[in-house]
Amino acid sequence: MVTAVVGLQLGDEGKGKKVDALAESAAYVVRYNGGANAGHTVVTGQGKFVLHQVPCGVLHAGCRCLLGTGMVVDPAGLLAELAGLEARGVDTSGVLLSDRAHLVLPWHKEQDAALEAARGAEKLDTTLRGIGPAYADKAARVGVRAGDLLDTAGLPAKLAAAAGLRGGLAGAGRAPAAGQVEAVLAAAAAWAAALAPRLVDAVPLLGSAWRSGQEIMLEGQLGLMRDLDWGYYPYVTSSNASAAYAACGAGLPATAVRRVIGVTKAYNTAVGAGPFPSQAEPEIAGWLRERGEEYGATTGRARVGGWFDAVAARYAAYLTGATELAVTKIDVLSGMPEIRICVAYDMPEGRTTDNPPALHQLAKAQPVYETWPGWDADLSQIRTRNKLPANAVRLVERIAELTEVPVRLVSIGPHRAALLEW
Ligand code: GDP
Repeated sequence: MVTAVVGLQLGDEGKGKKVDALAESAAYVVRYNGGANAGHTVVTGQGKFVLHQVPCGVLHAGCRCLLGTGMVVDPAGLLAELAGLEARGVDTSGVLLSDRAHLVLPWHKEQDAALEAARGAEKLDTTLRGIGPAYADKAARVGVRAGDLLDTAGLPAKLAAAAGLRGGLAGAGRAPAAGQVEAVLAAAAAWAAALAPRLVDAVPLLGSAWRSGQEIMLEGQLGLMRDLDWGYYPYVTSSNASAAYAACGAGLPATAVRRVIGVTKAYNTAVGAGPFPSQAEPEIAGWLRERGEEYGATTGRARVGGWFDAVAARYAAYLTGATELAVTKIDVLSGMPEIRICVAYDMPEGRTTDNPPALHQLAKAQPVYETWPGWDADLSQIRTRNKLPANAVRLVERIAELTEVPVRLVSIGPHRAALLEW
């Protein structure tokens, strides 16, 4: 069975915790998009683990983890992350890298910074990890892939060609600086030696696991509202977060994905520039940030808090084909006298919509809220649904109703164990 775990908001929904929980019985966890620009946080008995490129199954012995073809991988960052995990006693021997995954190289990071600077006041607030430029090179067919590292004879020419093509293109930061190609080549030998045992051809590997009925989890990065095609473009990531891309980015047929877990917080957060229709007033945003520890796992940036946006969540659940919901961070709302849910947007000329419009119209959208009563109990020790305060149950049920997808899991704390079957 193949299960995709997809964020329904703007990222940071708590996907990592879900993947970790389900990876216990999985043969493979495959990251299908993105790179080192975001992190998943998993809290176990051994403490807190922040994973950037390595899939969340790594904390379960026996689960193999594949960095999929749909990723753009920073090789030096990956080796550092693996070393950090090993230093904490995590066995990383099951971490594999698709030979078709593209590499993020130093000039991609420089171009990322140059593009942000060139945007002036219109910055996208990227993480400056080179993700967008690496995907751009992939699409422009001047990328270098992980498997190329093993082609010792061909790599210098391939890098020189990639660098030369970039040099021929106009624009800030596109041409590699003097000596940069040589530096990458020197590093590439070490990357190749370290990564060679992990390089695999994803299609036969996953194909045989799938055909023999093994559990495969496809782990998404960011959320649907940052999807390159269907998110708040241009305030999006440079890959597709949707489950529609999960099979493609992993190396499975699209029809293999039978279960799609849409992960959403019971409120909303955003980091970086871009629209946020249900952004809350500073007092509420501060509450959510402090109690929810809403700081970026990779960059430490403070996230802005807001109310659950059912308009965006229903759209995201529909587009990603969510078969079930995992609602997270209910505990963060404990103690709030009342909780709001955005159910529609008021638009100019008296119109109301329950579908997110494209960006130029979204700027004019005013959220329409309904208000629900809060609860005052500490949820941290609760382990069954029937012990939850009635108002918390009602809120979860309302989220399911508005999203039009049944809830299967509810998360009430960062720890692995704080997860309720619904
Ligand atoms: P991801 O990228 O979707 O995996 O999300 P992140 O890991 O970036 O952010 C989620 C944060 O919330 C992490 O710090 C998690 O440890 C934490 N978290 C996950 N689920 C819960 C929950 O139910 N309650 C609380 N309080 N924290 C949670």
